[in-house]
Formats: sequence, structure tokens, C-alpha cells
Amino acid sequence: VIVLEDVHLTLGSARNAVHVLKGVDLSVRAGESVGIVGPSGSGKSTLLMVLAGLERADSGLVQIAGQALEGLSEDRLAAFRGQNVGIVFQSFHLIPNMTALENVAVPLELAGAANAFHRAEAELASVGLKERVHHYPGELSGGEQQRVAIARALAPEPAILIADEPTGNLDQETGRQIADLLFAEQRRRQMTLVLVTHDKTLADRCDREVAVRAGRIVPEAPTSHARPAVEPAL
Ligand code: ATP
Ligand code: MG
Repeated sequence: VIVLEDVHLTLGSARNAVHVLKGVDLSVRAGESVGIVGPSGSGKSTLLMVLAGLERADSGLVQIAGQALEGLSEDRLAAFRGQNVGIVFQSFHLIPNMTALENVAVPLELAGAANAFHRAEAELASVGLKERVHHYPGELSGGEQQRVAIARALAPEPAILIADEPTGNLDQETGRQIADLLFAEQRRRQMTLVLVTHDKTLADRCDREVAVRAGRIVPEAPTSHARPAVEPAL
């Protein structure tokens, strides 16, 4: 569902330009969960932005759900992103002067969805926030704010969910609950999930782990639950 081939991207202006992605090759199958790990500054967040269609590659192929992004106009790219990709960030990125319900419903409504408020309410209920829909982000715990952000990302029913350190601002127990929610929703909706994390436990829960180092994908040891290629003889 996602194919990246030899993707290069330089960010910043001439004076502070950084060659961040230096030939990334990555394929993700539909319904798969992939955990991206790697040192700080290696380009993980930038890679997610390219996967989400929020940053355009300078060169190379970026294909999402069968669509090559390169030739799309800004408008069509934005519409494509809205329909196909949901994004969750470490620091929630909720709009502070909107209630939980409005944070989920308003983007849906702007995208032209019917019954936006009704759908938003259902999404918030499905992430366990039925009793918090009229709360503002400042009146919610970190874990609750991340649930709102997840409901917002899931509301357009994207085929792909992208998460940049979704548990990075949460304590261990809350982080585990958010991870449980992400994987449960992924399974229920048969979504593709690509997440970046520094948390080994979270990376291990993904079907596959991919490591980024200095702007390239490097081979990584299989996750603990991956099967050995050859079953040992009894
Ligand atoms: P972390 O684990 O700390 O979040 P990361 O792997 O997500 O790190 P990125 O945010 O992708 O790293 O950044 C990769 C490199 O690109 C960094 O060295 C950063 O300074 C540089 N960079 C990111 N955005 C820009 C920008 N807009 N202009 C110039 N350089 C940038
Ligand atoms: Mg990052």
C-alpha cells in the first residue's frame, strides 16, 4: 500500500539546508504494522511526513494506495491525504479553543462529510471518551488528549494511520493503553499502521521493525515474535 523508492529530501533554505533523506527504500503492505526506530535526528519524522504526503520528496518514487504523489497538484494532494492518511503526533496537536467534539467534527465537516458531529461523537465513544466530548483539551489528561487526536485521525476512515511517537509524552501505563487502542483500531479497521517510537516495547508489538540511520533504512533484527525462517528440527 506504500512504496518508497530512492527517496531524497533536503529541508531548510540554502544557508541551513540539511540532506535529511538520502535514498530511502521502503514498502509497506496493506494491513501491516511497521515500527520505525532510529537515533534522534536520523530522519524518522521527516520520513513520516513524506509517507503522509505532508512533505514532497525532491526525487524518487512515493506511491500511496496505488497513487504516485509526485504529479498531484497541492489541492489534489491535500484531498488525497484527507481521504487516505490519518496522522497522530507526540504532542497531540489539538486545537485548544475547540472542545473534543469540535476537534474531531470540524475537520470532517471541512472535508465535506455528512453528519460530521454525529460521526465525531461515535468516534469519541469508540476511543472511550463518551463522557468527555464537551471538554476542552486543557481540561483533559494527556492520555485523553491523545485519544481525541486518535479519534480525529480515524474519523475520515483512512486506510493508513501514521503516528510519530504517539506515546512519547505519556507515562508508561498510559502509553501502553494508547498502544492497545492503536493496535485494536488497526485490527478492527484493517488499517496499515506506520509508527515511529523510541519505546522498544511498542516497536516490538509491530509486525515488523525498520531502522533509520542517517537518512537511510538499515537492516534490523526481526521483532521478537517474528518466526524464524527455518523451523528448528525436533
Ligand atoms: P527525533 O527522534 O529527535 O524526533 P527524527 O529522526 O525524527 O529525530 P527529523 O525530525 O526527521 O529527525 O530530522 C532529521 C534532521 O533534519 C535533523 O538533523 C533536523 O535538524 C533536520 N531538519 C528537520 N527539519 C528541518 C528543516 N525544516 N530545515 C532544516 N533542517 C531540518
Ligand atoms: Mg522525530
